[in-house]
Amino acid sequence: MKKPEICRYCGGVIRLVPASSVYGASVYRLGLEKESIYQCQNCNARVGCHKGTTKPLGNVANEALRLKRIETHRVFDSFWKARHMTRSNAYKWLSQQMRIPAKDTHIGGFEMDQCQEVIDLCTSADREGAA
Ligand SMILES: [Zn+2]
Repeated sequence: MKKPEICRYCGGVIRLVPASSVYGASVYRLGLEKESIYQCQNCNARVGCHKGTTKPLGNVANEALRLKRIETHRVFDSFWKARHMTRSNAYKWLSQQMRIPAKDTHIGGFEMDQCQEVIDLCTSADREGAA
C-alpha cells in the first residue's frame, strides 16, 4: 500500500503524525505510543500503520468507515475468542476466507465492503457452528 498523500474524501493534505497527537493520553492504553498515523489535515480522515513502521494499513478512513472498522474488529475478536482460536490462526482463517494475502489482512485497512464481508463470515460461521 503506497503512502497516502492526498485525501480521497476532500483532497486535503495527508501527514504522518504521532499517534499521541490523535489519541492523546489514550495511546498508552491503546499500546500505540510508538506508532504513527496518516491523517488528513483538513477533514481528519486517517489510517494507522503496520506496527513499528510507517507503512499504512490501508486507505484513510472518514468517520463512517472508522466506526465500521471498529465494529468489525469487535465482531471478529469476539468470534475467534469464543472459538478459542489464537489470534494468528484467526487471521490466517480470515485471509483464506477472503482470498487475500495474510499481509493484507488488517481490519484497520479494510474498506466498507471488506468490513461487511468479515462480519458476514463470522455470522455465518457461527450459524453453521450452532446447527
Ligand atoms: Zn480529508
